[in-house]
Amino acid sequence: MAWEMVNYSCGHSERQQFYGPGAGRVQKKEWMERGLCPDCYRKAQMEKVMADETPVTIRVSLNTANLADNKAILINAVAEGGTYREKENLKALGFCFDRSSNVRDVWLV
Ligand SMILES: [Zn+2]
Repeated sequence: MAWEMVNYSCGHSERQQFYGPGAGRVQKKEWMERGLCPDCYRKAQMEKVMADETPVTIRVSLNTANLADNKAILINAVAEGGTYREKENLKALGFCFDRSSNVRDVWLV
């Protein structure tokens, strides 16, 4: 375990704690230094999402897993593609953005 300064390709630096054998720590640090710092990475991802002009598609699925318990059918609708520019229209249709998901463009009814 060691604390080392990581100098990211974007010019920002931060101290990071590395675990494991020395060679693995060096490889991990070199890999991190080829990329952006966490803040710049988030900013770049957001810019990418905002610039996405792919058509929005809505995938609908029927979840029958809890039919026996609830005697109800759950219908899921997930919008994918350039959803950011259609955010207000999708909200008007009842979609909401699930920020906890790792999937970028998930909107749930
Ligand atoms: Zn940065």
